[in-house]
Amino acid sequence: MLKDEDRIFTNIYGQGVAGLEGARSRGDWDKTATYLNKGSQWIIDEIKNSGLRGRGGAGFGTGMKWSFMIEGILHRPHYLVINADEGEPGTCKDREILRNEPHKLIEGSLMAGLAIGAHTAYVYVRGEFHREHEALQRAMDEARDAGLIGKDACGTGWDFDMHIHLGAGAYICGEESALIQSLEGRKGQPRVKPPFPANVGLYGCPTTVNNVETIAVVPAILRRGAAWFEGLGCPNNSGTRLFCISGHVNNPCTVEEEMGIPLRKLIETHCGGVRGGWDNLLAVIPGGSSVPLVPKSVCDGLNLDFDSCRECQTGLGTAAVIVLDKSTDIIRAIARFSRFYKHESCGQCTPCREGTGWMWRMMERMVTGNASVEEIDILDDITRQVEGHTICALGDAAAWPIQGLIRHFRPELERRIADYQAARADEAA
Ligand code: SF4
Repeated sequence: MLKDEDRIFTNIYGQGVAGLEGARSRGDWDKTATYLNKGSQWIIDEIKNSGLRGRGGAGFGTGMKWSFMIEGILHRPHYLVINADEGEPGTCKDREILRNEPHKLIEGSLMAGLAIGAHTAYVYVRGEFHREHEALQRAMDEARDAGLIGKDACGTGWDFDMHIHLGAGAYICGEESALIQSLEGRKGQPRVKPPFPANVGLYGCPTTVNNVETIAVVPAILRRGAAWFEGLGCPNNSGTRLFCISGHVNNPCTVEEEMGIPLRKLIETHCGGVRGGWDNLLAVIPGGSSVPLVPKSVCDGLNLDFDSCRECQTGLGTAAVIVLDKSTDIIRAIARFSRFYKHESCGQCTPCREGTGWMWRMMERMVTGNASVEEIDILDDITRQVEGHTICALGDAAAWPIQGLIRHFRPELERRIADYQAARADEAA
């Protein structure tokens, strides 16, 4: 369990004093110039040593990602882009940072900007987040007026400014290269990689795209030391994480906890338990809608970190824990996800454009049982022909929930088909 003194987001619920003074009273902007003056390499080394892995879903090492930038071509401008699109269903953590802890994000952006050589940061905020972008804009104005960002930020001689760009609600713009396309005013469609953004990103220049939470924890790491952060959580999965727990729990919430916390402990400590008790649990989707679900038998021993989740054939993703109790029609729930991914496919690559529609239509028939048992294997085969054969990870995101369903709930699919066939036979008789 996370001790209060190790908590990074002390105002995540917005109960403290708002504005720059409130942020300062909680330790933000304290001796920022001291850490900036230690230089780019020191900041990158600290972040590497802390073991921070990206909080947007993929879990790539943040310090490693930043180091690609300083190896980049130095005669072009460098950009920092912050992904505040937060479109993954079930995820509701970055919006809390934007609303209630914006100064952590701004200070972290300045530190990250200096580390990767960027004088400009763009924050790509999901279009529906009106209050969030207003709060962030207010905080940016305060920071600029106080000389914390802008020309000669914090008196360090480093010029750094930030701009907000509002998205228009497409899920795919959460993918980093589609986000860059959208930021440039183009259609939000993922780019073929390589080249990667660290070489050819925004306006053809070296760019790092980081999630809001990733950047917002940077000041705490530099201030308290890499060893402190690395000591939280578990090996290779260090630090804290904002978990957003939704679905069939008594008190859905967003809460900061240590990486690697047991799923059951998280739900029972912070959410008042599963509706109807732990034994009423059917399944959990631990990392947002694009990771495979795990049934209760796996949930009993599941720890919430990247590696433990991967060992259980699922993923930690955005740490959006969706809890499903026994009242859930699990096939309908996954079919709903299939519809979502079909709708959000950008249509560039054939396996995704055709496959997502194909999978959704088959899933709709699985919901009523209007299918044959052999089609379960055909559906599984289609998911495997989509997975890994597309430009971006949306193809995987559409395939994995169905694979999880078939892996763990095949008897339920077969029962539904048998019931449908029995009902048709009765009608015919
Ligand atoms: Fe577009 Fe889907 Fe291909 Fe991604 S996988 S580029 S969303 S068609």
